[in-house]
Amino acid sequence: MRLLSLTIDGFKSFAHKTTIKFEEGMTGIVGPNGSGKSNIIEAIRWVMGEQSARQLRGDKMADVIFNGSASRVPLNRALVSITFDNSDHYLASEFTELTVSRKLFRNGESEYLINGQKVRLKDIVDLFIDSGLGRESFSIISQGRIAAIFNGKPEDRRGIIEAVAGVAKYQKNKATAQRRLATTMDNLNRVSDIIHELA
Ligand code: ATP
Repeated sequence: MRLLSLTIDGFKSFAHKTTIKFEEGMTGIVGPNGSGKSNIIEAIRWVMGEQSARQLRGDKMADVIFNGSASRVPLNRALVSITFDNSDHYLASEFTELTVSRKLFRNGESEYLINGQKVRLKDIVDLFIDSGLGRESFSIISQGRIAAIFNGKPEDRRGIIEAVAGVAKYQKNKATAQRRLATTMDNLNRVSDIIHELA
């Protein structure tokens, strides 16, 4: 699995549709302060399902939409697409090439797509959860995160080790199963109350 390209259109400082192709080997992105290097990394986080506006240095999610400059009016929507070579099927999908896209309009409407097909956020999260690339993963280390990890609480650090070890998926499944079990217990209690009332 390899990152092939990233297309950013209307996201943060990228008012114009911009495609970055990643060749084999290492890619370095250089530019003056404030030229948008971090915005590129944030576009990657965002398209892979980031839900926290604060993690993207904003107050609300609509802050990621290009909000105008001296020479351009604000845009109405942000669109980011990321393409992976998945010929080794490292990502859990039968596709050999995968393009994941996320769109957000100012009215709050949003869309996620995999190879052009509308999907749920859950499908995006599930696609990346076991790959070490998910939104909580450590494949992207932002400025300040290393200090936060070292200064973090032991439970938080345990969470990091669990995420790296790949147990996050099972924790998520366990939490879902526990919620379902609790609902079923509530229903059972309700049924037993009704039976009691009828008896
Ligand atoms: P540094 O080297 O200082 O870390 P950088 O190259 O990483 O800088 P970024 O932080 O990615 O730069 O980009 C910051 C720029 O993006 C600022 O000029 C800011 O005004 C612009 N920007 C952020 N959000 C938006 C938005 N929604 N619309 C337009 N421009 C935006």
